[in-house]
Amino acid sequence: MSTFLFDCDGVLWSGDTPLEGAPEALDMLRKKGKQIVFVTNNSTKSRVDCKKKFDTIGIAASVDEIFGSAYSTAIYISRILRLPRDEKVFVLGESGIEAELHSEGVSFIGGTDPDLRRDMQPSDYAGLASGAALDPAVTVVLVGLDFHTSYIKLATAFYYLRRPGVRFLATNVDATFPHSHGLFPGAGSISAPLITMIRSVNLELEPLPLGKPSQAMMDAIEGKFKLDRSRTCMVGDRLDTDIKFGIEGGLGGTLGVLTGVMREDDLLQAGKEGREKGPSAYLEKLGDLIAGA
Ligand code: PLP
Ligand code: CA
Repeated sequence: MSTFLFDCDGVLWSGDTPLEGAPEALDMLRKKGKQIVFVTNNSTKSRVDCKKKFDTIGIAASVDEIFGSAYSTAIYISRILRLPRDEKVFVLGESGIEAELHSEGVSFIGGTDPDLRRDMQPSDYAGLASGAALDPAVTVVLVGLDFHTSYIKLATAFYYLRRPGVRFLATNVDATFPHSHGLFPGAGSISAPLITMIRSVNLELEPLPLGKPSQAMMDAIEGKFKLDRSRTCMVGDRLDTDIKFGIEGGLGGTLGVLTGVMREDDLLQAGKEGREKGPSAYLEKLGDLIAGA
């Protein structure tokens, strides 16, 4: 293998604590001249925010090696959709998404705008229903994890999505993410109510996810890092995001670790369902790579 794509949470660290042997395993791969890319579905953070997390944890990484779902989405909007400069994205999400949209020159509204963190007022109902409160330049609704989700944001997104031709994108659709204290609602739990609303008015819109396991993210990584897929290995702690991402991307290998979401039982189950569901190999923890080196 010449390139390793690393999931972060559950592989390199758990919460704010590095996982035993993970920094050393990364050092070993770097010494062997392997290309390393950090691929995270955490949509709340920009690449620069992620770098700060790496620094706090004590794992060496450069901003250029980091590829998050917020960045992947910004690239998709600017380089694949080629959103015209006069069109805008309505964002449900945190500052990490805003920073990455900004880095790609994409115009947006919503996001951390404090005016969308207030209660709905009677005039808001009229403004949304009539369209007077909507910006005609919005042609994309983008949903990531938003710690400040509010009724007014959901209602505004609903009205944008009902307009013909407006696209529905999601940084990722993970229902939950593993916080150090347990599972908490993830970005998929923010887009889910919108799906319910849209179905109720008989619209057939599903969010297009752009984080793992979306192959739009793999294509963007391939474009940036010039990797040879047959000599690339995806390392992760989740079957439904990381391992699926590597398998569907036709990578040379996938490596599962048991320090995050995946348990040995899940691997057994995946084995029963067919080789295409499970990783090519697994380790108790990434640090065990050193023993096997
Ligand atoms: N989404 C959020 C908001 C998170 O905080 C995390 C992990 O911290 C994730 C997703 C999963 O990230 P990863 O893909 O690095 O496991
Ligand atoms: Ca993970």
